Amino acid sequence: MSGLDAAVATAVATGTLLTTATLGVLHPRVPLFGPIVWRGPPRPAVALTFDDGPDPRHTACIAEILDVHRARATFFCIGRQLELHGSLARSLHASGHQLENHTYSHGTGLDLFSAVRLGQDLRRCQEVLAGLIGSASTYYRPAVGIRNPAVHAAARALGLTVVTWTHTARDGVFPLTSRRALALAERASAGSILALHDGQLRGNTKLREQTVRHLPLVLKRLKERGFAFETLTALLRP
Ligand SMILES: [Zn+2]
Repeated sequence: MSGLDAAVATAVATGTLLTTATLGVLHPRVPLFGPIVWRGPPRPAVALTFDDGPDPRHTACIAEILDVHRARATFFCIGRQLELHGSLARSLHASGHQLENHTYSHGTGLDLFSAVRLGQDLRRCQEVLAGLIGSASTYYRPAVGIRNPAVHAAARALGLTVVTWTHTARDGVFPLTSRRALALAERASAGSILALHDGQLRGNTKLREQTVRHLPLVLKRLKERGFAFETLTALLRP
């Protein structure tokens, strides 16, 4: 092999490795670094999940919309948000919604590369949840959905199951327009876990207002398609 060929081969190998690692880190269905749950059994039901709350402006609106459709959902809560809005969290729990762990600080820097550091962060969220609703969480959705060996090691140490999603609204980045809302409802299939947001970390409340505005469309279309709305625990029941 010439020097040039060797360089090309190395570049291709490196590219393949990077692609594989990126898929494992970000793709919601690739269990490269450890087990993940990304869908439930194929029954005519879906689990709606909401990340980054509770949020004083939007979580209550979302809960009201869910009530109208008699839907129960799962909220992946941030521990520091739980501390700030404890009564909102208790009210969600009392209404039959499920509250789960989305880390205490939602750190996306060094926290993600140290199982010890991340474990402390997850444990802090567990303690806050337990103090509010009497039980800690079973499921953990990593911040920004990033998974790596440290994320899985921290989850294992605390007995948490890592949950991603089947389909995401991507409403953490893009406004949930009516077109996107309907597309999400059309993509869903039996046993899907759908990811949306009730909180807004970047202070862009316009994004969350769009989620609140078009969530009813998602629910209406899913209901027309014959799906029930279940919490994660109910959806994953064998
Ligand atoms: Zn998040």
